[in-house]
Amino acid sequence: MARRFRSRSSCRPASSQRRRWSARGAEVSMPATDRRAGGAVIVRGDWLVQSPRCVIPEGEVRFQDGRVTDAGREVARAFPGDPVLSFPGCVILPGLINAHTHLELTLLRGTGRGLPFARWLEKVAREVLGRDREFFEQSARMGVREQIRGGVTTLADHSAAGVSHTAIRDAGVSGVVYREVFCLDPEADHTPALDFLASELERMTQESGADVRIGLSCHAPYNACSPALDAVVSRFKGVPRSIHVAESPEESAFIRSGEGALAGQRRERGIAVQAHRMSPVEYLDNRSYWHPGSQAVHLTQASQGDLAVLAARGVCAAFCPVSNAVLGVGIPPVRAARDAGLLCGLGTDSAISSERQDLFEEMRMAVMGSRLRSAPVTEQEVFAMATSEGAASLGWRDRGMLEPGSRADAVALRLTGTVPGEGQPEDIISAIVWQGSACQVEAVWSAGRMIWNANGEDPQGWNG
Ligand SMILES: [Zn+2]
Repeated sequence: MARRFRSRSSCRPASSQRRRWSARGAEVSMPATDRRAGGAVIVRGDWLVQSPRCVIPEGEVRFQDGRVTDAGREVARAFPGDPVLSFPGCVILPGLINAHTHLELTLLRGTGRGLPFARWLEKVAREVLGRDREFFEQSARMGVREQIRGGVTTLADHSAAGVSHTAIRDAGVSGVVYREVFCLDPEADHTPALDFLASELERMTQESGADVRIGLSCHAPYNACSPALDAVVSRFKGVPRSIHVAESPEESAFIRSGEGALAGQRRERGIAVQAHRMSPVEYLDNRSYWHPGSQAVHLTQASQGDLAVLAARGVCAAFCPVSNAVLGVGIPPVRAARDAGLLCGLGTDSAISSERQDLFEEMRMAVMGSRLRSAPVTEQEVFAMATSEGAASLGWRDRGMLEPGSRADAVALRLTGTVPGEGQPEDIISAIVWQGSACQVEAVWSAGRMIWNANGEDPQGWNG
């Protein structure tokens, strides 16, 4: 039988009354029926954020069979038999989309703290080489739990060990995992590395299940020599691609002139470095790396011309402003990228560079960084980047929103301050961006199933 989706309330302006969020600890009723696979449940909060422009006071959203079936006011009245989970003092918002992270590095948090970019990279690489598969599996499992506790229900992960996809699968959330490959030396035979990559892509795809897609990443232009890029492009057509690019001045110098700290490290290892006389974005474009839906991560050094190239190729951006600030590499050009027409997402990067892994902090930092560049973006824009636009940038048009028919990924977030202004949708979104934090997340649903709550319950058995 066809499922009917209804919206009980068109989106209308919120009350003009100022609202004080109630203190943490309000009673929340969570009947066990919430955990039934496919069982209907209605979630109620002081506000329901369906999208950045649609915020409903005293809103309710109904989940069934992994999808949102109804959203608006008084949904519960129409379904008197359904369990209702009430979160007074909370806003119910779409599950967050983390457009770039490295789950396998979670347990290496603190590595190279305070080092300049090139030395930091060297230190991280040394630490990674000293660890085994079990370490990365444990790290990825811890990482995905941290992400979920912070309200993330979809992740785009760079995997160097080939284990994060099962951590995402087993945690019951969705994602895309880009298997990394490193081909530094233009004079080496890259066939064994690319044969291994092919077998990894096949294995990971078989292991991933329906909610995790597998792609590839050549890591960064300084770790992807021209012959290897050409081989990857010709051999892995149609495979989703991501790459760190235009992240730091050192990377730009490496590609453009073959100079700088990264080039020095490479020469010390006896590896040839070539001056390409172009930007990293142009270098990858010359090698035909970009195709529609490819993901360009960081872009702090990208020029207007670079952004125009990416827009023309249909490339999406993932910005990680906290990581960029911690490493001191630059401020991402969020305004310019959006104006150029790129779909944009926000990512935490790894726990090594942005230790808290807090997407609310990324939203704030994106707004602040844009103001520092005198090219401001709004709170609604960064909220969209962390929800619906971030999802679209990864190829998912059915999540990052709480509209009838969308995937039932949601977060209950407690806010402790007053909502400024007149209680309009933009005021609620501003409050989320400026006041929200990962540790204020009260509950998280993925495909309609509660997978974490702050009430001490343990839906996934994480506490043993
Ligand atoms: Zn990264």
